[in-house]
Amino acid sequence: KKAIAVMTSGGDAPGMNSNVRAIVRSTLFKGCRAFVVMEGYEGLVKGGPDYIKEFSWEDVRGFSTEGGTNIGTARCLEFRQREGRLLGAQHLIEAGVDALIVCGGDGSLTGADLFRSEWPSLIKELLDTQRISKQQYTRYQHLNICGTVGSIDNDMSTTDATIGAYSALDRICQAIDYVEATANSHSRAFVVEVMGRNCGWLALLAGIATSADYIFIPEKPASNGEWEDQMCDIVSKHRSKGKRTTIVVVAEGAIDADLTPITPKDVHKVLCDRLGLDTRITTLGHVQRGGTAVAYDRMLATLQGVEAVNAVLDSSPDTPSPLIAINENKITRKPLVESVKLTKSVADAIHSKDFKKAMSLRDTEFVE
Ligand code: ADP
Repeated sequence: KKAIAVMTSGGDAPGMNSNVRAIVRSTLFKGCRAFVVMEGYEGLVKGGPDYIKEFSWEDVRGFSTEGGTNIGTARCLEFRQREGRLLGAQHLIEAGVDALIVCGGDGSLTGADLFRSEWPSLIKELLDTQRISKQQYTRYQHLNICGTVGSIDNDMSTTDATIGAYSALDRICQAIDYVEATANSHSRAFVVEVMGRNCGWLALLAGIATSADYIFIPEKPASNGEWEDQMCDIVSKHRSKGKRTTIVVVAEGAIDADLTPITPKDVHKVLCDRLGLDTRITTLGHVQRGGTAVAYDRMLATLQGVEAVNAVLDSSPDTPSPLIAINENKITRKPLVESVKLTKSVADAIHSKDFKKAMSLRDTEFVE
């Protein structure tokens, strides 16, 4: 019987539990053995039955209605070193695992692909140092890897949505709605900072959904010395028409055209000094990751979990590792390596000030 393991890695995202549940149950449904790796790559490096656990149908009962990830996640420095990955390979073989499905962000999926490409040399070294038997060496010649994207940032290229993004967006919108009520009562301005690292998706969509006055995102940096005037003109216009609230959304990665970060404090200062507005800063922080997943993320994670198991069972040693995506409402398979590479190239384009390229790589056509 084939054994398929799932792990969650990197930042947690609502919907990861639905993904794990679907992967475990699909694996069992297909007549295979299901395993979970606890605490992301740390569980691989530590190994043993406390970290690589066989799961039954009942072990994932109720997972879909719970936020975060029940099998734990971590950032693991050792896995970035070859020695850590060598231990990971040994522990997977000891547990009898044939395939690994990783639900995480681009960092986790980069690690997964590296692990697979190194696999032949890792098992050779394990054999040579007698950490695995000749039989195990022959049996575990290939490690099947598959990625599902769990990230609230929606920052992975080649997929329209990542697991957790719509939940985080919903939470941000709720929080801004709350702030809006108090803004209206006191005629205040609020500067709201939202997560997203290099990606402005959460800030942009939250800004549109809550009809914010002004939005800062990394892909479309504000011109130096111009954003202040532009923002003040827009806010003043809205105020002159009787609007009692001002909401400005600032993405975590907001920058100006010189790549200097634009912080909520910078925006606060301009609104106070130039417009004399009673302005407050709201940093939503980890509330954005928390809580249960919205229905869309549960559905996405479930469908993608089923597809991940299908992809693992379909793959052969010479097919590239797949990443499970969603494009135009269809669950699809993409080459994992290319998706990760494309994602990195967006960040690179931003850092080299090629914002046009960054924008085109994002596939977010309505940004202009
Ligand atoms: P995310 O998956 O959310 O992008 P990270 O970038 O923190 O989060 O990656 C999560 C973990 O994946 C890291 O702590 C590390 O163990 C592993 N990882 C990330 N990048 C690599 C890499 N280049 N090589 C090996 N492992 C990596």
